Amino acid sequence: MAIPTETVYGLAANALDPDAVAKIFRAKGRPQDNPLIVHISEFEQLSPLVSEIPESAKILADRFWPGPLTMVLNRSELVPPSVSAGLSTVAVRFPKNPVARAIITACGLPLAAPSANLSGSPSPTTAEHCIRDLEGRVDAIVISGPCTVGLESTVVALFSDTPRLLRPGAVTAEQLKDALGKLTVDPAVTAKPEEGKPVASPGMKYKHYAPKTHVILIDSSREEYINYVNAHLSDGVFALCFQEDEDRIAAPTVLYGSEADGASQAAGLFAALRQLDDLGAKIAYAHAPSLSGMGLAVYNRLIRAAAFEVVKLP
Ligand code: AMP
Ligand code: MG
Repeated sequence: MAIPTETVYGLAANALDPDAVAKIFRAKGRPQDNPLIVHISEFEQLSPLVSEIPESAKILADRFWPGPLTMVLNRSELVPPSVSAGLSTVAVRFPKNPVARAIITACGLPLAAPSANLSGSPSPTTAEHCIRDLEGRVDAIVISGPCTVGLESTVVALFSDTPRLLRPGAVTAEQLKDALGKLTVDPAVTAKPEEGKPVASPGMKYKHYAPKTHVILIDSSREEYINYVNAHLSDGVFALCFQEDEDRIAAPTVLYGSEADGASQAAGLFAALRQLDDLGAKIAYAHAPSLSGMGLAVYNRLIRAAAFEVVKLP
């Protein structure tokens, strides 16, 4: 069933039952090579799932669990291979949302839960989004409030010597580096993975988070962004922009937060992408966020929504 978490709504099932896991892939139309995150509601549930808990994982759990951080570790025999799409690792998260935790605890099981959307569409940040994508395809949808974070969890791989950031999220690269002393950022975080090459985080290779609207990312100052949009007006052209941009843009706007506040951008982005479709937008020029703090996670999702189409203005 679909359940709320602080990141996005998740489509949850018993992580230890291959038949239950298969139903998740079927309901979402998710490619079999895209692994799932396993959710727990107490730290003690981690050790049966993994072959070893490295020191780095203990440090991060101490600082950031419960919360929007997923750790990739070597998998134990207990975890069905299909959860991890055949990889020798497993991704585990201990969410903070009290409803998610109560459901995991009531089940007495770790729950595999990818985002509760149809594969390819933006992740759901409200129960309404889940209902639209999954009604009739799942047993239940738990209706709760909007997700406070609004972007999927940070994913960090801890199974080799250097911790590697695979997917940025609300736990920032800066925070991870501060906690661990070192961190490699996977190139797929900000750039298009090379065609045909294996990617460390399989979800990063798909044109993900994408609305039907053709999104083009404009990487520029506010002045240049506003000038660019106003020079490209036509029927169906929208601006996907910050509240600070709105006044001087001549196109219809969909806002996704404040330029000065990455958390507000994260909380607004996926609903804004869905809103563009609802409004029948043909083209949306999106104002790119800065790459620091949570901006990196917002940029990472937007560049995929734009299928890596970026206009960089000097
Ligand atoms: P979702 O729950 O829909 O946000 O997707 C989970 C994402 O976590 C996947 O698309 C992967 O990018 C990442 N992930 C899950 N398990 C692993 C793993 N074992 N190794 C690397 N990345 C993983
Ligand atoms: Mg997803």
